[in-house]
Amino acid sequence: LRHLVLVLGDQLDLDAAAFDGFDPAQDAVWMAEVAEESTHVWSSQPRIALFLAAMRHFAQAVRSAGRPLHYRRLDDPDNRGTLAAELAAALQTLSPARVLMTAPGDWRVWQALKEVVAEAGLELELREDRHFFCTVREFAAHARGRRTLRLEFFYRELRRRHGVLMQGPGADAQPIGGQWNFDADNRAPFGPAGPGAVPPRSRFEPDDITREVLALVARRFADHPGALNHFAWPVTRAQALQALQQFIDQRLPHFGRTQDAMWPGEPWLYHSHLSAALNLKLLSAREVVQAAEAAFHAGHVGIESAEGFIRQILGWREYVRGIYWTQMPGYLQRNALQADQDLPAWYWSGRTDMACLREAITQTLALGYAHHIQRLMVTGLFALLLGVRPQQVHAWYLSVYVDAVEWVELPNTLGMSQYADGGLMASKPYVATGRYIERMGGGCAGCRYDPAQRVGERACPFTTLYWDFLERHQALLARNPRMSLQVKNLARLTAAERDAVRQRADAIRAGQVGVPA
Ligand code: FAD
Ligand code: SF4
Repeated sequence: LRHLVLVLGDQLDLDAAAFDGFDPAQDAVWMAEVAEESTHVWSSQPRIALFLAAMRHFAQAVRSAGRPLHYRRLDDPDNRGTLAAELAAALQTLSPARVLMTAPGDWRVWQALKEVVAEAGLELELREDRHFFCTVREFAAHARGRRTLRLEFFYRELRRRHGVLMQGPGADAQPIGGQWNFDADNRAPFGPAGPGAVPPRSRFEPDDITREVLALVARRFADHPGALNHFAWPVTRAQALQALQQFIDQRLPHFGRTQDAMWPGEPWLYHSHLSAALNLKLLSAREVVQAAEAAFHAGHVGIESAEGFIRQILGWREYVRGIYWTQMPGYLQRNALQADQDLPAWYWSGRTDMACLREAITQTLALGYAHHIQRLMVTGLFALLLGVRPQQVHAWYLSVYVDAVEWVELPNTLGMSQYADGGLMASKPYVATGRYIERMGGGCAGCRYDPAQRVGERACPFTTLYWDFLERHQALLARNPRMSLQVKNLARLTAAERDAVRQRADAIRAGQVGVPA
């Protein structure tokens, strides 16, 4: 065998760089389903099912393309359970002259595979992941010499370099619409009547392959969180393209204005639900951005929707990848706020009497999905205010979402949502009281707590913990100009009021509040 091409579960792209120059007469592809990838964090059933179903469909596509494939199934009786052990065995049997792959998305997996290949006396050749607009080297060059990183500068650089939503010639090109960023137009809540008739999500009914996977996951991972009965994710490239088209036609026109809004009983809203298909590489980031840009030029969507959506992919998604690969492995251990609490057990069940959290967690476990503001300003905010160890919060996010892959999940969790990197990624901690959740449609009217109250039996735990957070981190926050107003407000509280906040916060931490009787 000349080349063995390794393909991981999140590299399902027939055009990936690893396949450049592939010669079916002398080369082969290797893929393996292993239990470790579902157990190193307590992966939810929908997440496991999506990876396995998409891998098995991709295996079919590889074979149909005439590429010889060595594929290990999770239920093969002698499956060794880890990527390292499976690869070591494959290298022994196949003895390839070279081993190559597209750069992986996960530091842990890269280390493990590199070691196995080295032990076999070979070198692991990594090829650039062309899925992304920006290489890790380019990101590193952008970051060099900057004390803090900010999305906005990086995003503008990429818009310019790739000519996305730009007008005018060459170096004089200007952003379409006269401004780089329509963020301020993306924050409206829904009115009292709610989000209106939200189009149904794209559904892809499980075929025979997916049904077999669902049965396998239900059997093998019965004690893992989450449910399988709503499973309808795209698992092939053709389905992913269909989901993209449906999003552009039906949801994108309404995406922009209410990007940050929530509504009880409406998990999908006007979001794209494309993150999993993107992260598995069933869709290319370029084609998604192009589709949104084309919809704008065709007059189908407004600039606030097109730019708001493109910023998430060309901006945030590329930015967090750069942070991950330039900061790992140390990033995983960061804990700038010295948070030391355990994640409440009800994050794994949704059994809490805080309506917004119950809704976000129940939905997450049932669907493997929650939109960004639920992740950032409900589940993430509560963990931040409570002071949960960032590594536990990270393990939860990596487990429960179908789109969770470490390169994108970790900077979002540790950096953006928990401020555990001390401000490398976000210029200030995203902290707010329950009033923010109320304003954005989080469902306070149906909750036993009152977001306006700081202390007392009906005080919203977010609100109590917000004031407690300011108090606990006052010295650090006072040095941040973007937090000074919030810290000044704290000074208005009397000593007795602060005491009452502290007592109630202690009761919340002790689990005496928030859990149904
Ligand atoms: P849309 O709202 O339709 O956005 C469009 C696309 O933009 C998404 O599909 C996604 O690819 C990209 N995007 C949007 N926001 C971000 C962001 N902050 N970082 C990177 N890409 C972004 N995203 C993941 O893909 N995997 C994760 O594991 C993940 N974990 C997160 C954990 C936390 C604590 C937070 C706050 C955010 C996390 N995100 C993660 C980012 C974001 O919440 C999801 O990408 C988004 O909710 C997915 O839903 P959607 O496809 O409907 O997104
Ligand atoms: Fe959430 Fe507080 Fe509103 Fe209840 S009152 S839904 S806990 S923000």
